[in-house]
Amino acid sequence: MILRILRVLLCSLALVGASQVFAQDYPSKVITIIVPFAAGGPTDTIARLTAQSMSATLKTQLIVENVGGAGGTIGAARVAQAKPDGYTVFVHHIGHSTAPALYRKLAYDPIGDFEPIGLINDGAMAVVARKDFPAKNLKEFVDYIKANKGKINLANAGVGSASHLCGMLFQSALNTEFTTVPYKGTGPAMNDLLGGQVDFMCDQTTNNASQIKAGKINAYAVTTAKRLAALPDVPTMSEAGMPNFTVSVWHAMYAPKGTPKPIIDKLSKALQEALKDATLKQRFADLGSEPVSQDRATPEALRAHLKTEIDKWGPIIKKAGVFAD
Ligand code: ASP
Repeated sequence: MILRILRVLLCSLALVGASQVFAQDYPSKVITIIVPFAAGGPTDTIARLTAQSMSATLKTQLIVENVGGAGGTIGAARVAQAKPDGYTVFVHHIGHSTAPALYRKLAYDPIGDFEPIGLINDGAMAVVARKDFPAKNLKEFVDYIKANKGKINLANAGVGSASHLCGMLFQSALNTEFTTVPYKGTGPAMNDLLGGQVDFMCDQTTNNASQIKAGKINAYAVTTAKRLAALPDVPTMSEAGMPNFTVSVWHAMYAPKGTPKPIIDKLSKALQEALKDATLKQRFADLGSEPVSQDRATPEALRAHLKTEIDKWGPIIKKAGVFAD
């Protein structure tokens, strides 16, 4: 018995030792960030800006691989199966916390299959429509929607995405029905909105602020409690006539379960450094997004936040009766 305990102890010491030696040399090659949405959208943009700044601290390149589809769940499932060696990390948004309520059969456990690294940012969303949509403000938009029930197309990044969540909350607040058009990310959805193939979407300002500023789409409201410095002329939902409609989209970084703690700590430190970077802060601000404070870019803060968000969104989604499968 004593011998067995000794053997287990020695084994675990050897493992800890090995992972520490491994972590000292880490990273020795390129790190891949899986983004569970198509290129050109908000998650892609946030991941690429963060990767650029993190590579300065980690002294290695971080490249983005887009694995879009099914509202982010395909990419998440890929990460859950990836080798936990620190060379695959994952950037996802609020959808990581809404997926367990939206999908009755999820191929992974959002908490149990991942190691949290830290939160990245809090971002606003905006309700936007194609340029020639016949409504100048949110009130006219809502009136038009109500008069044309079932005829309005809503673009989103699939069930489980932030644009889906925002669109469904909007639909339920107006007690109407939209025809949803899912994409692999709101990057490609924006192209179709610009081309007038779809009517509207509710997406992060990371994706639509520059198009709004350029006057290429109509913006009716932002989903934050206060107006954004980046879009001072766009009213809040509350100012535009829909009080109590606030949605903020957070992004975070994870690794597959079992990634050694010293590596997670290195990644988390690099993330914290990245979020202090003046260039990153300015780029985020231009897109109506804000890096989180240093104490939130940690594994502990993300672990707690993810659990709180899962507990928060579960009942809301169940009440709205939205399921993906
Ligand atoms: N903004 C998208 C969403 O609706 C995802 C993306 O393309 O980043 O969740």
